[in-house]
Amino acid sequence: MSTSAKRLVILGAAESGVGAALLGIQQGWEVFVSDGGKIKPPFREVLDANEIAFEEGVHSMDKILNATCIVKSPGISDKTKLVQEVRGAGIEVCSEIEFGFRYKGDSRIIAITGSNGKSTTTMLTYNLLKDSGYDVALVGNIGYSFAGQIAKKPCEWYVMEISSFQLDDTHTFRPDVAVLLNITPDHLDRYDYKFENYVASKFRITKFQHNSDFFVVNQDDKAIQQYLASHSVNATTIFFTMNDNIAGDDGGFVNNEKIHINYEGEYFDMSIHDLTIKGKHNQYNSMAAGISARIAGVRKVKIRETFTRFKGLDHRLEYVATIRGVDFVNDSKATNVNSVWFALESMVKPTILILGGQDKGNDYTEILELVKHKVKAIICLGVNNQSIHDTFDSLVDTIIDTTSATEAVHAAYACAENGDVVLLAPACASFDRFNNFEDRGEQFKEAVRNL
Ligand code: ADP
Repeated sequence: MSTSAKRLVILGAAESGVGAALLGIQQGWEVFVSDGGKIKPPFREVLDANEIAFEEGVHSMDKILNATCIVKSPGISDKTKLVQEVRGAGIEVCSEIEFGFRYKGDSRIIAITGSNGKSTTTMLTYNLLKDSGYDVALVGNIGYSFAGQIAKKPCEWYVMEISSFQLDDTHTFRPDVAVLLNITPDHLDRYDYKFENYVASKFRITKFQHNSDFFVVNQDDKAIQQYLASHSVNATTIFFTMNDNIAGDDGGFVNNEKIHINYEGEYFDMSIHDLTIKGKHNQYNSMAAGISARIAGVRKVKIRETFTRFKGLDHRLEYVATIRGVDFVNDSKATNVNSVWFALESMVKPTILILGGQDKGNDYTEILELVKHKVKAIICLGVNNQSIHDTFDSLVDTIIDTTSATEAVHAAYACAENGDVVLLAPACASFDRFNNFEDRGEQFKEAVRNL
């Protein structure tokens, strides 16, 4: 990216776009923001207050195609005519993360990606550093612009959640510690329905790393294993696993109901029962976060403290209430089949599963066994529940279609007996009936409270 002719055009005026705009003007770019929809008032206020030129409801190509660099919101697909024209014109397209990276100075980055567990692991890692007194900011996909943070208040450390969409337009982005939690099919509509494209996108997190950087990665994940068998990685690779055959001296593993973390000859262990966040998936997340924190220099005693204090995030296996002996658990963020696998895996009571929503082409085979053993009824919550019926009608006696969170909660409660659990884990996006997964989770919790 040349900084002599500096016109920065930003497509999409939400958190990341406005953050990039602020950093752009601070760094002497001529900035123009273009949003095809309506810009939300808080973002508009920031643009106005900083006298940043913008348009909304339209993309004026004459004001876009003269850019030196374009920062594209991760929400805008490559398939759109707009992006195709921009790419056709040969203009450099960056993600906001890439743009921020170029101005990060000496600060250090722990970047976390994966199909599932990003937000939980990012928040836990951030807490590990914060509780230890680090000058650290939480940034990225979790809701706070990296570029905006650099513009407003640079920190020594950034703990960053990064999605495949944000990785797609990185060209030099090199985190000091890159974490890859897992890769299972998701968002394939954005990757020409080719899993290998999605895998390659995830691996961009380590692509520009050097040997002095660290790549913390799940040793048990099939897609990761396959990729690593045929590609080399520059960074120092540290694995975490559920087995005790860990590759290398450093890393994390679980045995005898304990999580173990080894780093540079120092050993840490802790009972999995003392971790506040439960389930096998959270043991993976804790190992990844713990290793990253050790690399960053966090002391073992502090890791133990934070591990026993961290409560997890709302809408991820969130306990809601127990009503007449029936537990209600909100896992609205379970938007793909693999996250439902982990949710069911951690259930210890007969389960009534609320499933369905906007289907991304789900293959439910992965959860067949668990459903067979643990699920006594399925309550469908999608507009179109055909694939759920096709898969489970012969396996589960009770399958009921519903049209709202309230109806689903009532139907589930009617099926439940003392000692059961009602689990909202839809395996689907929420947009067919709700604004987003938070809205779905909130409506579920509200309906439970009203029982
Ligand atoms: P992301 O930010 O990647 O969507 P979250 O931490 O928000 O991840 O969790 C998303 C969903 O995946 C939740 O349903 C959660 O219970 C489940 N989950 C969390 N960590 C993992 C993991 N390591 N493997 C599989 N599923 C997970």
